[in-house]
Amino acid sequence: MSDVKTAVRISPEALREKYRIERDKRLRADGPNQYLDPNAVFRDFDADPYVEPGFTRPAIVEETEVAIVGGGFGGLLTGARLRQQGVEDFRIIDRAGDFGGTWYWNRYPGAACDIESYIYLPLLEETGYIPTEKYAKAAEIFGYCQQLGRHFDLYDRALFQTQVTEVRWDERRARWLVRTNHDDVLAARFLVIAGGIMHKAKLPGIPGIETFKGHSFHTSRWDYAYTGGSPTTPMDRLKDKRVGIIGTGATAVQAVPNLARDAEHLYVFQRTPSGVGERNNQPTDPAWAASLQPGWQQERIENFEALVAGQPVEQDLINDGWTQISGGVNFEGGAADDDQYELADFARMEGIRARIDQIVQDPATAEALKPWYNTMCKRPCFHDEYLQSFNRPNVTLVDTDGKGVERITPTGVVVGGTEYPVDCLVYASGFEVSTGYTRRLGFELYGKSGQSLTDAWKDGAATLHGMYTKGFPNLLMSSLVQGGTGVNVVPILDNVATQTAYTIKRMVDLDARAFEPTEQAQEDWLCVLMSHLTGTGKFSTECTPGFYNNEGSLGDHKMARNAPYAGGTLAYFEELKKWREKGDLEGLEVSRNSEA
Ligand code: NDP
Repeated sequence: MSDVKTAVRISPEALREKYRIERDKRLRADGPNQYLDPNAVFRDFDADPYVEPGFTRPAIVEETEVAIVGGGFGGLLTGARLRQQGVEDFRIIDRAGDFGGTWYWNRYPGAACDIESYIYLPLLEETGYIPTEKYAKAAEIFGYCQQLGRHFDLYDRALFQTQVTEVRWDERRARWLVRTNHDDVLAARFLVIAGGIMHKAKLPGIPGIETFKGHSFHTSRWDYAYTGGSPTTPMDRLKDKRVGIIGTGATAVQAVPNLARDAEHLYVFQRTPSGVGERNNQPTDPAWAASLQPGWQQERIENFEALVAGQPVEQDLINDGWTQISGGVNFEGGAADDDQYELADFARMEGIRARIDQIVQDPATAEALKPWYNTMCKRPCFHDEYLQSFNRPNVTLVDTDGKGVERITPTGVVVGGTEYPVDCLVYASGFEVSTGYTRRLGFELYGKSGQSLTDAWKDGAATLHGMYTKGFPNLLMSSLVQGGTGVNVVPILDNVATQTAYTIKRMVDLDARAFEPTEQAQEDWLCVLMSHLTGTGKFSTECTPGFYNNEGSLGDHKMARNAPYAGGTLAYFEELKKWREKGDLEGLEVSRNSEA
């Protein structure tokens, strides 16, 4: 791809200096605290626009073997893997009206998978489904989540429109008591938290945000009643509207071309530009699909993971922007002190900037759209219509030179002292990532002796594999906290689901009453985590601020303890697999019912 091959026209020293200046412009004393909870600005932000309001049902009081919180890919995969293990008695609880998680909530126009669908959509060989495009659109992915629900008979196990309010370990019964907003009390032997990674929306803390009198919403709650249209049809009610969108991350890159097409005028308010490479989406070739041999999906997933980790492979099966940017160096780990990595990345980013000059006609707009940071400081984007949108006469880029929007008034948005009047404001301002685990979950867990998880982790998390934590028996978590991370999240969720189902099946077979990790196992896991952190600290402090580096705030020992496994996705999978193959449940202390 042309992005990678471009020569570095500026000296590395000059680029380093430019990156530093651009980063320094954006560093803020309030770091991650600059954001607002949307509930503070919007009444009923948490209300689900996709279901009839006022849903009620009788409370459910029952015993269940496993309670799974979350019906996104994490919960779906846990249900599927439990069924494969022969564990049939479980419940999946989600506040949404259906399965899908991210893909249930995010229906903004243009939403699509930014990873190849053949490796992003899980269990394709099991369901026999082949995505229609290399990068499937959101509606297809949501439909596939529903298909997974049907294929693995998960619908009759689901409690939708149900918000968990509290979970509490009952020591006497050795059960988790899961309470909900419908007054349900599920007494579960095992509790699985598959609460998602980026699901708690945030708003920019811009002065005056609450005074805006026009219409406004966050991208994860797209208001088609206002805009008209749907994810697949034009938003016909915007043709006489001046629309502003705040934020230019991966979400905005997908939404902007559609807003540009439909709005009378679109103002794109930018603090930091995204790096946008070629997408080159293609419909699935039926002949290729017919040629796939059993085991193809796992092979493809591993091929992708090896490529983004800079490991040698015989062939690049994916052949897209993600796999080509690594240039044979560790792209995911991104050690900035590695000269080879830095130079390869300078070259890639020069290509990204050159692409802007090729596409965007107005030189000042092109200049303002150029990202000056290392690729992995922010989510790399790929799109073939985003930059082109800025050539339209009805689109204005309002660049804030790294400062962010100055103020919001009842009628518009102020940048550099100029007010841009808008009828509608779209917040493409992202999601909380590094705030407290239970804050993002939206409920508290109380373990042994009534201790809350928030309290237990007040100085940082302690887990084995990011999945089990001492003092909270029979609990299995799927999260970034001390767990796996990578650019393609779904295979991580699947590996954790496999590990979860394995653990539960083993405990059932052992007639276990309760299990929890030992303190030693947690310490050992922390050492594994720390051994992989070398280089990442320097890398992230040199980065422009964003959620990848906690807005440039150095953090503390607590942040360090909460960091995910940084040794690469395949290595994390290997850790879990080795543990299962060893077969002795190493690091878990198990008590049996017969001993009770
Ligand atoms: P981001 O957090 O990436 O972007 C938020 C945007 O809001 C940034 O551009 C940010 O600027 C801007 N912003 C924040 N405060 C202000 C302010 N005061 N004034 C102006 N601008 C401001 O959120 P996204 O929703 O775009 O993406 C989140 C993640 O979701 C992605 O990283 C990706 O992992 C995932 N995603 C995945 C997709 C997929 O297909 N799988 C598609 C879309 C998203 P700044 O950069 O300066 O902070």
